[in-house]
Amino acid sequence: MATSALANPLHILRTTFGYESFRLEQERAITTVLRGDDAFVLMPTGGGKSLCYQIPALCLNGLTVVVSPLIALMKDQVDALRLNGIEAAYLNSTLDEYEQRLLVSRLRSGAVRILYVAPERLVTERFLTFLASLNPVLFAIDEAHCISQWGHDFRPEYRELAQLKQRFPHVPRIALTATADEQTRRDIAEQLMISNENTFVSSFNRANIRYFVEPKRDAYGRIVQHLRQRKGESGIIYTLSRASAEEIAERLHADGFSALPYHAGLERETRTRHQDLFLRDDVQIICATVAFGMGIDKSNVRFVIHHDLPKNIESYYQETGRAGRDGLPSDAILLYSAGDLTKMRKMVAIEDNPEQTRVLVRKLQEMANYAESRTCRREYLLRYFGEKFIKSEDSCGSCDVCLNPTPPQEMYDATLLAQKFLSAMVRSGERFGAGYIIEILRGNKDKVRLEHLNLKTFGVGTDNSAAEWRDVAQELIREGWCYREEGEYPILKLNERSKAVLYHGEKVMLPRKTPKTSRRDRSTSTPFASTTSTPHNQALFERLRTVRRNIASNEGVAPFMVLSDATLIQLATYLPLSLESVRRISGFGEAKTERYGKLFVEEIGAFAAEHGLSTQMESLAPKRERMPTAERTQRPDDTYRASLELWQQGKAISAIATERGLTAQTIMGHLARYVATGQISLEEIVPENKIESIIDALRAADWRDGQAIKPIKEALGDDYSYGEIQAVINAYPK
Ligand code: ADP
Ligand code: ZN
Repeated sequence: MATSALANPLHILRTTFGYESFRLEQERAITTVLRGDDAFVLMPTGGGKSLCYQIPALCLNGLTVVVSPLIALMKDQVDALRLNGIEAAYLNSTLDEYEQRLLVSRLRSGAVRILYVAPERLVTERFLTFLASLNPVLFAIDEAHCISQWGHDFRPEYRELAQLKQRFPHVPRIALTATADEQTRRDIAEQLMISNENTFVSSFNRANIRYFVEPKRDAYGRIVQHLRQRKGESGIIYTLSRASAEEIAERLHADGFSALPYHAGLERETRTRHQDLFLRDDVQIICATVAFGMGIDKSNVRFVIHHDLPKNIESYYQETGRAGRDGLPSDAILLYSAGDLTKMRKMVAIEDNPEQTRVLVRKLQEMANYAESRTCRREYLLRYFGEKFIKSEDSCGSCDVCLNPTPPQEMYDATLLAQKFLSAMVRSGERFGAGYIIEILRGNKDKVRLEHLNLKTFGVGTDNSAAEWRDVAQELIREGWCYREEGEYPILKLNERSKAVLYHGEKVMLPRKTPKTSRRDRSTSTPFASTTSTPHNQALFERLRTVRRNIASNEGVAPFMVLSDATLIQLATYLPLSLESVRRISGFGEAKTERYGKLFVEEIGAFAAEHGLSTQMESLAPKRERMPTAERTQRPDDTYRASLELWQQGKAISAIATERGLTAQTIMGHLARYVATGQISLEEIVPENKIESIIDALRAADWRDGQAIKPIKEALGDDYSYGEIQAVINAYPK
């Protein structure tokens, strides 16, 4: 399928959506479907899956049908597209007869480019026949993991989607999901018959989310502590039960926080109202069961707290993924107690389905392992999704483990203890959990079954307390000397390593337990600096929020759909004072620039005049995705400093650029700043002959501080970079 010059993907990305470059695997996925092939896209939440089918939809001549199980989200997605000037519609059970008829005629006239539809509706014979008359050019299957029973959200009606290929053999399909382990992935690809080379897996790393696990003691107190540190910010608190969602919301409300509950037990109206208040930034905190969030695209959620253990890593990743869709720093906090695991184990079991139960219990155990593990949280999560995460310097810099490394563990020889423990396991038939094994070792006649009173290992562990044995058991499991089997009751089993200990005398070294107090210190020292402290003008940001809020209520949509917080922060940083400049801000496509640009320019102009500020547009790098993944967790100040540090280590600009995944120009811009502070001398970064020419050019133009640098750059030509010019300016303060 040929694409006309005007309708090329990059052009649409820039003009319609206002973004400068593609992210992750977007471009390859788009090219594949435009070529007429099927594609399978795996990308984390917030990664930008929607553009993978929205852009082809706009390149192709005809109708794109998007299958989505999330009815609640359809209207939002359609509204968001309309704000960007795109004709879109949705068809689901919320439309009445009249609306449906209207839609049919819009579809017939060819006005609609993108149609969202629920799977059960799509696969009806009546709809498929109708569709055949419409010239569909692309099918997008969103939330594709619903097709697999290995997934965590299996929906039988998704199975029917496999027939699209037979019905419309020449129409490409693009399947998308944010959550899929290896097995689910393979299953999706098989069901939809999409080949390996057309599968595009992006990194699942959400670099702007920090991950924390904290012991669940005085959970409410901990939550309050977190909320105090992030006043005015939006967040979700997930709970297992409706009752605790409500209880926490009530307590928070009584304690003066802006919080509301959300769960399936509330009246539909109440639920919708609470959700809307949250979406519109009128309520800060929502206390919810997992029923909340499926239909939520709110991009400025700054934190997600899990009060209870989620059922699996997929859910956890998806729920925490609702934080920070706008790319700004955000936090995911899990409160964990081993008791939760025991409770959940009973809950996930499905009666009369041992096979499915085994899958679910295994997934739950992996979730608990995450909480108990002492390795980097980010690394663990990514490994779960089949990805190797390469940390710089042994630390991801943004999880509790990496931020508070435990001092090197003192190890001790635990071979004898391990032998006793493992042999008690063997002799009681590998049918019990750690608690019972310890009763045998401690020789507890009251607790041990009759048939075990004569075991050789009965009472051989009286030298150690029950608590010490529990630590030993925990470490043996954690270090892989035996394992806990899935099932309703946790049973300990031997593995190859245990056999090596028992029968080949292998030595077992275990970490000595750190005193309890130090652990507690560690958890309370979790750093919670406010996350949005970027060098933007906060007062202006607040005023722009008001402008955005007014637009949103006029348009009948949520504020974040008009423009993201990230875009407002850019406005409040660079103070564009003309439509031309606004167009350069990420997130302003043609439609938005035209419709809302003026309102923002006026507000910024008024603010600048009141406060004697001038525009900072010169320091804005060419429009590009200004927060590439590597940079996202860093505040602008940090990224400057990171470049300085590497420079001070003696690295060349090109080397720093490669190491940081940035362009040499950007690095130059960073370093230029330190010429002003005297930390770098001008001659170090700009060749002498160039300095002369730059000074000449500045003089010739009678350049004054605050004026645009562009004319100087143009006068000097391509051999000179903005960074070099800026460095010279910085070296000669007026
Ligand atoms: P997902 O569906 O994968 O969760 P979305 O499609 O909702 O993610 O995209 C998340 C956010 O990122 C949206 O605000 C979207 O407009 C933005 N986005 C997507 N692609 C790009 C890009 N190439 N450059 C800048 N922003 C992008
Ligand atoms: Zn880490």
